[in-house]
Formats: sequence, structure tokens, C-alpha cells
Amino acid sequence: MKFLALAVALFAVAALLTGLHAPDAMTFLIAGAAAACAITTYLSHRLSAFLKVFEAIFASETIIFGLAFLVDELGFWPKAYANYTLPESLPFAVALFGVFIYAISFVPVVRKMTFIADPYFEEASPTQARPGFLPPITIAQNKLAIASLVFLIVINQVEVALDVRLSYFRADFTNALKNMDQAEFWRQLLLVFVPVVAVLVVSYTVEYVVTSTFVVRWRRWLTASYTAKWLSRGVHYNMLLTGLPTDNPDQRISQDIYAFIDGGGSGGGIYGYAVTALQTLTSLVSYGLVLWSLSAGFTLPGLAIVIPGVLFWVALAYSGAGTLVTHWIGRTLSALYFQQQRYEANFRFGLARAREYSEQIALLRGENSEAKAADENFANIYNNYMRIVNVRKKLTAFVRTYAQASVFVPYVVAAPFYFLGKISLGGLNQVGAAFNNVYENMNFFVTYYVGLADFRAVLNRLTSFDEAISRAKAATEHPVGVKFAGSPSGEIVFENLTLTLPDGRSLIRADDIALSPGESTLVVGPSGAGKSTLFRAVAGIWPFGAGVIREPAAKLMLLPQRPYIPLGTLRNAIAYPADAAAFDDRILRQALFTVGLPHLADRLEDHDNWQMTLSGGEQQRLSAARALIAKPDWLFLDEATSALDEDSERKLYKALAQALPDTTLVSIGHRGTLGALHTQRIAIEPRDGGAAMMVSEAREPA
Ligand code: ATP
Repeated sequence: MKFLALAVALFAVAALLTGLHAPDAMTFLIAGAAAACAITTYLSHRLSAFLKVFEAIFASETIIFGLAFLVDELGFWPKAYANYTLPESLPFAVALFGVFIYAISFVPVVRKMTFIADPYFEEASPTQARPGFLPPITIAQNKLAIASLVFLIVINQVEVALDVRLSYFRADFTNALKNMDQAEFWRQLLLVFVPVVAVLVVSYTVEYVVTSTFVVRWRRWLTASYTAKWLSRGVHYNMLLTGLPTDNPDQRISQDIYAFIDGGGSGGGIYGYAVTALQTLTSLVSYGLVLWSLSAGFTLPGLAIVIPGVLFWVALAYSGAGTLVTHWIGRTLSALYFQQQRYEANFRFGLARAREYSEQIALLRGENSEAKAADENFANIYNNYMRIVNVRKKLTAFVRTYAQASVFVPYVVAAPFYFLGKISLGGLNQVGAAFNNVYENMNFFVTYYVGLADFRAVLNRLTSFDEAISRAKAATEHPVGVKFAGSPSGEIVFENLTLTLPDGRSLIRADDIALSPGESTLVVGPSGAGKSTLFRAVAGIWPFGAGVIREPAAKLMLLPQRPYIPLGTLRNAIAYPADAAAFDDRILRQALFTVGLPHLADRLEDHDNWQMTLSGGEQQRLSAARALIAKPDWLFLDEATSALDEDSERKLYKALAQALPDTTLVSIGHRGTLGALHTQRIAIEPRDGGAAMMVSEAREPA
């Protein structure tokens, strides 16, 4: 970028020298704007990776358009192409865009935007891409992202330029018709219209494909990045525990990321606010220049006052007034659409829950109550929709009237000049088209301005989600509460350990209590005393408390009372969280036999909602099968056999002990019969007004 800054600075000097050689106000303006652009380009190391792309494009365009301007100024522009000189103000405008990019980088909402966008434009890991019909290539991720963005910005600007060229074609074409000039008629049609439209059509198609690919790749990358951060070890659970102000991470990942990138497919998002807005701004400036040049020499009828760019000002005022009224009528729409999304989500969620708890609802005969709740949820959708209809009714009436008026208003304004012979019929038509373009572009900005509130909400939710993840990650990696240390003796030792609840209330205290390898231990205590919390602390996911837990470098596994079974094949369910492909069928079948599920042994490939179809006891057996194939050094069973009858429980414990002779079992359980299956017992005894105390009691094996 330093080299580019130097090039812009050199151009600014060249423009200044040209200005001194052939004094002209515009040349000096361009030299000044280019000098400012050179400074912001030089300072662009302070810009975000995303904004740097825009800065580089505008700096380059300042040089390209600026040189074309200087060539023309110095009289070197080829005569044959005299009709194709660039508007004088173009290099001035792009240099100012460059300065503008630097200035907006300080706006807080832009900072938030680039904070989320930047990692995608910075990560240099290799990725595969298929550019058009070419074979796939491997390229650094950030290079591909930057190349796609540059391509899209440039192709959008080319489209605007071709569109403006078409507006001149229409004027020339109308004039050819009016002048009965057949040769010119065919020349315009075949040599101007056909090639320009052909290029435009190809360009729109290519742009569509590149935009869609760019957006979906970016979404895939950002989704994977957030999912990985959220699902990194213990972070998601820590976020739940610490209750940071981040609701529904699933929604943040599935909806907000999509909304951030391109408004969830509806336009908007960062793509809309950066690339599409830039295209619209370019179009607004270009058509503004067209109107400006068409107004050359216009005087107010009856007066001899020349108002420079009168048509441009009239168009701006007319479009501005129209869009303001549109905005005023539809000002509540954005909030109403936002509400609508929430009501739709609530309705869907209610039905999904009814499906998930179908059995419980059927047993309780809760169908009517569920249907009533669904009706009430839908009533919100209906009422809100009717509010939207009410606003849109007024909006439609205004917009339709305005759109009809827009067709002839420019003619009313420009007709007096036509009758005075100041512009041709083609020129008059061109005024009409340019007028409408200015109106449409202004409308775009108002629409985007209205949507900005939603976009800001998306940005806030994503940044607060990001902060919550970072805090939870820091808390998980460097816990301030319970500390972990190694255990040379191979025992798990609780030293001066106090576990507390998130609100700071003490739950359990333990001082120098050890779990020895090879000694199966049963942890007992009244319900709510904190037994499961102790297991969570051992697993490193309970951050609240103080003291030290010493753990050997061994493989720990914890089986909860209600196992989690992922959707998919039975094979995946048994292997979870390991990769099912890593295990031989024979091992998986053997595990099912050992835990008493022989009837499932031939269903390894079956897809099912196993959580719903298996009985509570079968789910616990499946969970035990996982332990059999994972072969941990320590196996913690938190009431993991509570759904089995006593005899089955005893058999399962024996089977586990036999199949895993090197594994130390530590269990939580309420049944008296469990005592006989363990060699050591730890009791958690509640104390009046304070934390329960952990007490170790040696026991003889049965
Ligand atoms: P049970 O034998 O009934 O399973 P337990 O001894 O295993 O009980 P824990 O699950 O450890 O008890 O819970 C101990 C206490 O901590 C309970 O009062 C519970 O309400 C509380 N508790 C557990 N998790 C949380 C949490 N995330 N936030 C607040 N309180 C919690």
C-alpha cells in the first residue's frame, strides 16, 4: 500500500504541475483530492483488512481516471474518441471516496462490522476454488476473499458505466429516429446497443455467480469459525453457567451470521452496506453527472440566471422528498418485520417442542393445551401481519402515485428547455431516465438506512456473542476458581476444595480426600447435596469454587444419568464422541452384547431418533457400551444405571469390571445395593447453614 500511496502522491504532483501549466479549477481540485487520498492510502495500515481493499481500489482508480483526465487536459486525447472522454469530476470523486473510506473507519458501527468481517480477509490457510470453467486451484483463503471482493467492486462499477453508456445510446437513438437518419439508426442499434448489452448480460450473470459463491463461502467460513469457538472445550457450558447476556447461540450462528453477510439472502448485510451501496453511490454520482452535463447553459425561463446543474438539483430534491415521505409512511415497517420473525420463530419452536415431547404430551393428554398454545402463537403472527398490511397499504398508494408521476415530472421540468431548443428530444428522454435512476438510487439509501437498525442489532448480537465466547474461553483455560494440578501418585485428590454455586453460595467442602486407582468408589449423599457438581468439577467444567484438584494424566470418562444420543446411525451413537469408522463392527457388536443389548447388534447402520425410541434403561446400557469401547482409565458413573432394576445393575457393573480391568470406577448412586459393588465409599454430609462436607469411609468389598 505504501507503493500505491507513493504513486497517488506522484499523480497529485503531476496534476498540480498540469494545473500550473494550464490553469483550471478542476485540475487543482483533483490534485488536492489526490494528495488527501495519497495520505489516507499511506495510513491504510491502520485500516481493517476489509476496508483496505476499498482504499486500494479507490487509490488505483484515482491514478487511472486521473491520468486519463490529464491526457485530455493536455490535448493528447485521440480525436477519434472525443465522445468517450471521462467526466472531469470522476477522478475527483474516486479520490474523495478513498478519503471517505478512511474517515468512516472510525465510526463505531463500521468498527464492529470490520471486527467481524476481518478474520475472513486475514486467514491465510489454503483453500480450493473453481474460477469459471478453469480447473480447481489451491489458493490462500485471504487472497481468494480479497480477489473476489475486488472483482465484485470493479464489475459493479463497469456495469454502472455500461448502463450510463446505454442512457446516451437511448438519446442518440431517439434523435436518429426524429431526424429520420436511417444509417445512424442502424449504426446505433448494431454497433452500440448490441455489444454494450451483450457485455452487460455476461457481466450480470458472472456477477451473480461470483457474488453467490463469495457470500456462501464467507458464510461457511464464518459459521465454522463461530461453531468451533462456541463448541471448544467446555466453552458452551461455561457460557450457560455464567449466564452472560447471550441468548440462543444456535440462532446467532444460523441466522445472525447469514444476516451479517447479506441480510439473510434479502440484500443488506455487510455485502449490501459495502459493495451494493458502493455500486448505487457510483450510479448516483454517474447519473448526477449526466444530469449536470445535460443542464449546461440552462437558464431559468424568463430570467437570465444560469443555475449550474439545475436538472441534477431538481432530481435530487424531487427524489429526496419522495424517499423521505416513503420513509415516513413506512418508518414502522422495519420493527414490524423484526417482530414478525420473532413470532414465526416462537411458533416454529412451539411445534418442534411438541414433536420432541410427543410421548409425554400423549401420556398427559396435553394435545388440546398444545393446540391452544400453537393458536395463541399464531395469533401473534396474524395480528402483526395485519399491522404490516395496514402500513403497506398506505405505502403502496403513495409509491404507486409517485412512480406514475415520476414518468412525466422530469419532462415537465425539462420540456421548457426542449421547446427553447436547448436540448434534443433524445436529451429530453435521457433526462427522464437519469431522473428515475437518481430516484431509485436515493430510494436504495433510504431503504438501507431504515434497515440499518436491524443490521446494528445483528452486529451487537454477534459482537456480544464473540465477547461471551472469549470470556468463557479464558475462564475455561485459566480458571480463577478451582485449580488443577498433576498427581504423581496417580490418585485423584481434593485439596482444600470448596465448590460453590454461581451466586457464590458454598455447596461442598473437601479436604485431602483421595480416590485411588484400582479402588472403586461410591459417592453417596442426599439429593441436591452436590454430588453431580463434584463430578462436573472433576471433569473441569465447573469453574465456581476454590482449592485444588490433583489429577493424573489419564483418560477420564463420565456417564451422566440421562445420556446424550446424537441423531444418526446406531454405530455413531455408540462410538460418540469418537469417529465410528475407527471401530470394527465386531467390537461394537461385542459391546452391545456385553451391556445387554443383543437385539440391537444387527442394527448398527439404522438411522433413528434413538433418544426417543430406546427406553431409559436401554439408553443407559448404550452409554455403558460407549465406555467399553473407549476404555477410559477412570470411569465416573453419575446415577448412570438408575433406570435398571437391581439385578440388571449388578450384572452391568460386573460386566464393566470384567471388560475393563484397568479402569477405576467411581459412581454416584442412591441404591443400597450399589455399596456392595464398590470398595470405597465417600459420603457427602450436609452441615447446618454451610457447605456439605465430603467424608471418606473405607469399606470391605462384598
Ligand atoms: P441428585 O442426587 O438429586 O442428582 P446432586 O447431589 O447430584 O443431586 P447437584 O446436581 O450437584 O446435586 O446440584 C447441587 C445443587 O446445585 C442443587 O441445589 C442444584 O439446584 C444446584 N445447581 C446445579 N447446577 C446449577 C446451576 N447451573 N445453576 C445454579 N444452581 C445449580
